[in-house]
Amino acid sequence: MSTYLNETDAGKRIMRRCDELGSISKPGVGVTRLYLSPEHRKAAETIVGWMQDAGMEARIDEAGNVVGRYHAESGGGPYLVTGSHMDSVVNAGRYDGPLGVLSSLDCVAGLNSRHRRLPFGIEVVAFADEEGTRFRTTLAGSRALTGQFGDDLFNAKDTDGVSVRDAMVGFGLDPEFVDKAAHRPQDVIGYVELHIEQGPVLQAAGLPVGVVTAISGQTRAVMRLKSAANHAGTVPMGMRRDPLLAASEIALEVERIASTYLNTVGTVGFIRAEPGLINVIPGEVSLTVDLRSQGDADRYAAYAQLETAAREIARRRGVEFEIDTILDLKSCPCEPDFIRQMQTAVEKVGVRSLHLPSGAGHDGMAMSSLTQIGMIFVRCKDGISHSPDESVTAEDVAAGASALLHFIENFQGNQ
Ligand SMILES: [Zn+2]
Repeated sequence: MSTYLNETDAGKRIMRRCDELGSISKPGVGVTRLYLSPEHRKAAETIVGWMQDAGMEARIDEAGNVVGRYHAESGGGPYLVTGSHMDSVVNAGRYDGPLGVLSSLDCVAGLNSRHRRLPFGIEVVAFADEEGTRFRTTLAGSRALTGQFGDDLFNAKDTDGVSVRDAMVGFGLDPEFVDKAAHRPQDVIGYVELHIEQGPVLQAAGLPVGVVTAISGQTRAVMRLKSAANHAGTVPMGMRRDPLLAASEIALEVERIASTYLNTVGTVGFIRAEPGLINVIPGEVSLTVDLRSQGDADRYAAYAQLETAAREIARRRGVEFEIDTILDLKSCPCEPDFIRQMQTAVEKVGVRSLHLPSGAGHDGMAMSSLTQIGMIFVRCKDGISHSPDESVTAEDVAAGASALLHFIENFQGNQ
């Protein structure tokens, strides 16, 4: 048994391990730990060791996830699954993902030190690939755990042309056995994840933690607007059919329409004007739209309204209009009873409970195909994530981990 728990402040303890895990990175700014890389292997082995110290049976599974089991008082499962991901984007911070893994691990270490077993087991998972940075896949780890690891994942390639299948072999895994990572529904009684908020809501509210209501659904679309490029000096303003101005109006409509729906956000993240010259009225413009909402009905209504508005703007300005929907991902609601139990847990640690949706995707989206899910967010400084500037305080981490432990110890399943 390590002296891990000798550090009495849970927040400091967990953050110290986030630092230790954060040092396992490709050289460069911040943390870069990609799926099936040597850094992934080293981080996984480190976490296995920590899990064993906390009284868990731990292993690296067939997809590269780390799975640690703390058995029920009767000896086995079923298991309440908790954890987060251990992979990162390029030049990431130390907390997006690892904070959830290490807070969950800390909860189990605490129970183990008190020789406390629960009527159900606890399974802590460090998911191998949530960000999808290396292969442009997402949720590969949780898709393996939920039996959804298909050929699209196996065949995905990184920028060097290495497929997931080949990288698995290089990592020491046998791709033929990936199905063995899948859990049976009867062995799992829920999934709960602690994660940094990655947004500014908790900081603005002055709260260390928040209860997540749902992982927002997403629509992504590309719009194309076309007319004919022309000379910037010779065409009078009243005689132009400028697709960039149509795109600009559409971008403002995205802002206006998204603002009229509850818990809905819309973003134009990319606009390209062709030919893209200082003295030419553009002939063709493409722009992307990313629309997210806690409620699917709101998202579909907002999207339909936006399409109608965009067509009308294009028609009025005399430019051709095309729209392609490239992603339509349903919202993933947290189980209402888990939300209630998490609210109780948060209040138990002396914090007013605030409910908020997650605008970012998480492993819970894949886990929801297997079991009911719940989440708790921890405030992060200025809402910054996916950056070495990611920052949390030990007090907030302690509040989050205490609420998570309270949730686990008092977990009633789905009432
Ligand atoms: Zn994350």
